[in-house]
Amino acid sequence: MATIHAPLFIGGEELEAGREGTATTYDPATGKEFATYAVGGIEDVDQAVAAARDAFDSGPWRRLKPFERGRILHRIGEGLLARREEIARNLVLDSGKPLRDAYWEVDCSARFFEFYAGACDKLQGTSVPLGPGVMDWTIREPIGVSAQIVPWNYPLQVAVRGVAPALATGCTVVIKPASETPLALRELAQICREVGLPKGVLNIVAGSGSVVGDRLARHPGVDQVTFTGSVQVGRRVSEAAAVNAVPANMELGGKSPQLLFADADLDTSLPIVHSGMYLHAGQVCNAGTRLLVERSRHDEVVERLHRMNTAMTLGRGLDDPDMGPVVSAGQKRTVEEYMAIARSEGQLLEGAELPGDSSLSDGYFVRPSLVVAAGATARVTQEEIFGPVLSVVPFDTAEEGITIANDSEFGLVAGVHTTNISTAMLAAQELAAGQVWINSFGVGLDVEFPFSGYKRSGFGREKGLEALDGYQQVKNVAVAF
Ligand code: NAD
Repeated sequence: MATIHAPLFIGGEELEAGREGTATTYDPATGKEFATYAVGGIEDVDQAVAAARDAFDSGPWRRLKPFERGRILHRIGEGLLARREEIARNLVLDSGKPLRDAYWEVDCSARFFEFYAGACDKLQGTSVPLGPGVMDWTIREPIGVSAQIVPWNYPLQVAVRGVAPALATGCTVVIKPASETPLALRELAQICREVGLPKGVLNIVAGSGSVVGDRLARHPGVDQVTFTGSVQVGRRVSEAAAVNAVPANMELGGKSPQLLFADADLDTSLPIVHSGMYLHAGQVCNAGTRLLVERSRHDEVVERLHRMNTAMTLGRGLDDPDMGPVVSAGQKRTVEEYMAIARSEGQLLEGAELPGDSSLSDGYFVRPSLVVAAGATARVTQEEIFGPVLSVVPFDTAEEGITIANDSEFGLVAGVHTTNISTAMLAAQELAAGQVWINSFGVGLDVEFPFSGYKRSGFGREKGLEALDGYQQVKNVAVAF
């Protein structure tokens, strides 16, 4: 029986039910109900946008001294850390991820608030030299009401990745969580209230993509849209934003390559390649799902990775296994369909046994897998699966490896594993990706550098100081004297 409930959060008030009532959410490890949530409808979105509009136009937020805004953001980060255990456990039950990954998500979310808290009083403009008799300068102002639509894989971290810089600039926000993970922002709302974030500055409306998401994206009261999710939905949200002629940040999918050169130290590189792929069962936008290996090491790499997969443990996230379930029955079906495609295109090597515990038999578990000999253009190598399926493709020269890496409609990130500095530099210059990791794949609580994709992986930038640009507009003032 569910005991946890996530209300809507509009104008500083928690609403136990939305216009579409309430619904149940399921633990991916057991397939059983574990919480309920309020389901918003069109009127809830309208109400939330009105609250955000009012909080922006006439409220105190954007008029606060910047350092005072920063203090409030800092306190939100502290609030997240103070409730780390509770939030992490709910994230596990919501999304299925192992507990250590959920702790990382809370820590990283707190870092976003800390980082942008420090930026609030440094949003400076420039002075423009025009010669005698004129003074000219630029001012950076908040863009207004930001509509944010987020996915389920990192439902707190991806949400605050957009919320924290938006609030730092003085914007107000309406955010829609994914239906699979409606619980993730419950504590955030409570913390915002506790630390004195003014009413209406942050509003949360859960509900379906086609109702709440669509209304939010095309709402005329919105000044900017940040969308994180699939290319398919991103196109629709871009169109909706275009109807209102407002800017949009698109953080979309990926099929990111990891290039493993023959000179790499496999003892160091393979654990990085492996975790860069199988973290959260491969349900990571920047998962390194295409492994391109210099041919002379191909068979050895396949054998070692397969052994690593076989040694993995699968189980419920709260027991902190190597890999948890995928998020939903639908996602499990999608992954299994791709596994069938992989078998027809190449060879599918499945690792880790499914959990033997009968209480988990209804959970959404799939086995970590490698696909060999499918080739660079196979569907399984080209399409985003969003599950634990790694395609391995051999290459002969650095140029060929880079060409294969770039042969994708996506361009989110790329990994390079080599001990040769010239190879690393060549790859960094030539790879068509928003971020290139050399001898790494993700580094710590990475909030400081810009992140987003080339090609279909999106546009606009999240994280780092660059993210602030998406939530500001530039005013120029010229004074003749
Ligand atoms: P999705 O596109 O199905 O859904 C994303 C969000 O959009 C959800 O909240 C959903 O309810 C909403 N939505 C659905 N239809 C809508 C509509 N018509 N109008 C407005 N909103 C709508 O994606 P998902 O399955 O939740 O997440 C997986 C995808 O997200 C993958 O492609 C992954 O690569 C991508 N992703 C990208 C990043 C990044 O930073 N680039 C980060 C995480 C996930």
